[in-house]
Amino acid sequence: MNAKLFAYAPAPESRAVVDIAPSYGLFVDGEFREAAAGKVFKTLSPASEEVLSEVAYGEQEDIDAAVRAARAAFGPWSALPGAERAKYLFRIARIIQERSRELAVLETLDNGKPIRETRDADLPLVAAHFFYYAGWADKLSYAGCGPDPRPLGVAAQVIPWNFPLLMLAWKVAPALATGNTVVLKPAETTPLSALFFADICRQAGLPKGVVNIVPGDGATGAALVGHPDVNKVAFTGSTAVGKQIARTVAGTRKRLTLELGGKGANIVFEDAPLDQAVEGIVGGIFFNQGQVCCAGSRLLVQESVQEEVLDALKRRLSTLRVGDPLDKNTDVGAINSAEQLARITELAEAGEAEGAQRWSPPCELPGEGYWFAPTVFTGVSQAHRIAREEIFGPVLSVLTFRTPDEAVAKANNTPYGLSAGIWTEKGSRILKLANQLRAGVVWANTFNKFDPTSPFGGYKESGYGREGGRHGLEAYLEHA
Ligand code: NAD
Ligand code: MN
Repeated sequence: MNAKLFAYAPAPESRAVVDIAPSYGLFVDGEFREAAAGKVFKTLSPASEEVLSEVAYGEQEDIDAAVRAARAAFGPWSALPGAERAKYLFRIARIIQERSRELAVLETLDNGKPIRETRDADLPLVAAHFFYYAGWADKLSYAGCGPDPRPLGVAAQVIPWNFPLLMLAWKVAPALATGNTVVLKPAETTPLSALFFADICRQAGLPKGVVNIVPGDGATGAALVGHPDVNKVAFTGSTAVGKQIARTVAGTRKRLTLELGGKGANIVFEDAPLDQAVEGIVGGIFFNQGQVCCAGSRLLVQESVQEEVLDALKRRLSTLRVGDPLDKNTDVGAINSAEQLARITELAEAGEAEGAQRWSPPCELPGEGYWFAPTVFTGVSQAHRIAREEIFGPVLSVLTFRTPDEAVAKANNTPYGLSAGIWTEKGSRILKLANQLRAGVVWANTFNKFDPTSPFGGYKESGYGREGGRHGLEAYLEHA
């Protein structure tokens, strides 16, 4: 920590607001039960490596039971008038708000992200997502899928660990609003908030079988997406697994949406408000330790302001507080797992080996847990691995450009196409570039802004289909 700064006193959020049981079962047909084969796995806090709980590990037999429960629930659930389904969704949204402090602490413990983010970003967005789709449940004939759109049936949903409860909300809320039932598999390092959500479903009186949660790993996920009686598969995670799922689903009648990796370009022009741009660069890549599919992991800065921007960026990064995620002053928390830390470390080493210059602010990392200091690489060329591959960590690769055309060419020079940012004072330039950038989301003079009303999704290897907004309903409706 920079000695010139005020030393902040510790400001820890209380762990006592959440009661984590020593073990959890699968949530199938409205109740928690042990896995058929009795297998379990541990989930830990990446900030301390402390084991938080032991969770049932789902296998084929458990997936079969969960899909059966979802199938049985589908008839009555889809027959309910939309306004009735909306009541359940509104109830769930309100319970999430009421329990948001508890859920924020839980998510911070299981994932390692700062409480400031779970409290101020994840949880409000989770509740907003349920409120938003609750509002759609009785208006589906106006969703643009014909006058009488029908649900698909049982939705198999597999989510990652970077925004565990938010990715659950993105998947579950539109599925339920449209009258589908759900079997969801949370990620192996972050199963707890999904299991708390199962409890919220019970608290809301949701009919049994409408939502089923089966924790496990990749094998559990593969069993779920390969199950012959699911009608829809929704996946968020790595491009490699997304391709595998696309092959599994090919030739079946299952509908598929994929939300995969990214290598977003954050483009800063010389006429941009540079102080604001620096805040946007920091939020773009260090939010959630950079473990964000739409992260602005490539900074494209106009050559004329390169020095000024980098100086300001380094000054700003020197004020970031890295450490205890439960401390309310923490900006950057722990990396989610030892595996993820190893991937980030390997790619950062490749950056150095290939000749880019590495810089990190002075910061002390905790002795226990998985940590990676905020890192900036300059002198990066488009051929470097750190310019091409998704790092999924707090690592920014800086490239430069001279003209708008060069900026667009470099930004689009990636197999991905999820997000991009433009920083400039010129409105006309924003509109022109937004059309030229092959990215599903383009932010102008801001970054990483999310809203349930806005569709989100990718081009190219970032996947297909849209989540959020009216578009998010289409993925769960039979098109007339
Ligand atoms: P992953 O794709 O392996 O895991 C995501 C989810 O898919 C998890 O729930 C996992 O259990 C499940 N899964 C794994 N293999 C599966 C299979 N064959 N069939 C069905 N489900 C399967 O991601 P990861 O290993 O946690 O991370 C690897 C890389 O993926 C990261 O470094 C990052 O680049 C990327 N990633 C992207 C996102 C995103 O939001 N787009 C999220 C997490 C990770
Ligand atoms: Mn965990």
